[in-house]
Amino acid sequence: AAVTAAEADEIERAAEAALRPRRLAEFVGQRVVRDQLSLVLEAAVARHRPPDHVLLAGPPGLGKTTLAMIVASEVGAALRLTSGPAITHAGDLAAILSALQENDVLFIDEIHRLARPAEEMLYLAMEDFRVDVVVGKGAGATAIPLSLPPFTVVGATTRAGLLPAPLRDRFGFTGHMDFYETGDLERVLHRSARLLGIELDAEAAHEIASRSRGTPRIANRLLRRVQDWAQVRGTGVADTAAAAAALEVFEVDPRGLDRLDRAVLRSLCTRFGGGPVGLTSIAMAIGEEPETVETVAEPFLLREGFLTRTPRGRVATAAAWAHLGLTAPEGGPSRLF
Ligand code: ADP
Repeated sequence: AAVTAAEADEIERAAEAALRPRRLAEFVGQRVVRDQLSLVLEAAVARHRPPDHVLLAGPPGLGKTTLAMIVASEVGAALRLTSGPAITHAGDLAAILSALQENDVLFIDEIHRLARPAEEMLYLAMEDFRVDVVVGKGAGATAIPLSLPPFTVVGATTRAGLLPAPLRDRFGFTGHMDFYETGDLERVLHRSARLLGIELDAEAAHEIASRSRGTPRIANRLLRRVQDWAQVRGTGVADTAAAAAALEVFEVDPRGLDRLDRAVLRSLCTRFGGGPVGLTSIAMAIGEEPETVETVAEPFLLREGFLTRTPRGRVATAAAWAHLGLTAPEGGPSRLF
């Protein structure tokens, strides 16, 4: 039977959950954030106090949710999960806050997407451990102050710059997550292969790692696709042949660019002459949300030197033209590079 999109999402989520490291010691790479977090958590445990609020910033798939879960497990606290978009009214947040137990870790994914009233309620709660619960409606509504037990907020955002200063200031510590080195991704892959019972050879791990856009989530997904290929078409072993074939089937190119990345670059070069052009125009040209282009594709393309940001918009670099096999126009903006 065909699998629906919702079922496919559910399968992805379950597969991801199975591969999450549970402890800080198992968390691969991100040495700086790991050291900082380890200090914050150890100090909290020694003081018998919940740790300071933690903000984790960085592109999707780098391990923010995983770290939030690790914060809770390292201090032996329960984890509550929510997200900015899930909280549509301040009342939703009031309900979540007033149900918190002492020491709970409240994970708020995409915290930059909280509505303004909820944001204000949150920073008061983070600062004073207090929330005003509004009872009744209209002229008869009254706010009843409720004090909250000490708890820890772990916020995750792909765009730390979008958080208003008062909210940002309530976090005792901000971990900036960066793309992973290929070597770290190889370690992630070997760990995942072990958990999934996949025989993965070193060369194949290197091949997959170097095409995973510096992102563990992508590395783990590609590993499962390589496993699929190995089982159905190959020898059962995730070897170089299986890796190369599967990456080709799923249209991941040798530099790790996927369909979205290439669509962004191609539209920038062929429709907008290499730029400069606004992000929204690019997003519209390829039928994507501007936020998706900005948070998913752009950070990687910037890092790999395929794109630059100028005050007048995005510009394709010479590397982008070359990668697409296109010739940059004479005298075009790309001549700047
Ligand atoms: P984010 O919340 O930043 O989008 P997640 O925490 O959901 O990312 O991580 C995505 C997937 O990548 C999970 O399956 C997780 O197990 C894996 N992963 C992320 N970071 C690491 C890491 N440092 N070591 C091992 N696996 C990781």
